[in-house]
Amino acid sequence: MNDIFSKIVRGELPCHKVAENDQTLAFLDINPAAQGHTLVIPKRFGTDIFDTNPEDLAAVARMVQTVAQLLLQTLKPDGINVLQNSRPASGQVVFYYHVHVIPRWEGDGVFSFWRPNPTDHAAFAALAERLRANNQA
Ligand code: 5GP
Repeated sequence: MNDIFSKIVRGELPCHKVAENDQTLAFLDINPAAQGHTLVIPKRFGTDIFDTNPEDLAAVARMVQTVAQLLLQTLKPDGINVLQNSRPASGQVVFYYHVHVIPRWEGDGVFSFWRPNPTDHAAFAALAERLRANNQA
């Protein structure tokens, strides 16, 4: 693979490594949203949430918790956001699966999330039914 994160995994491009194990690598984001903003990736390539191997997703999730604890101990943030973008409409710009771990401090104004919409129980019931009907698991 010729993409940026594959090259980082192979050591062909530098990164500021935070943690590593056999399946995953955690390193500082090059343009951090906040101090300590870290990316966690599987060492095996996946594009996004849809095609990444489930074992790698699980390994990344465990590493995300390790990194969150490291950030908490080291930087003493008030909170942490865990964010994953899949496909351009979500904001994904690097097409190698990665999870953002972003320390947050009260009032930091880093970003705000969605504006909540009203509850619609009839529509929710129909939608939940459609989703259950498509569940092959
Ligand atoms: P996305 O929008 O795809 O979820 O986020 C991609 C992230 O990768 C961005 O936050 C960006 O700053 C980070 N990034 C892009 N290129 C590099 C790089 O070469 N090294 C590091 N450490 N981070 C990168």
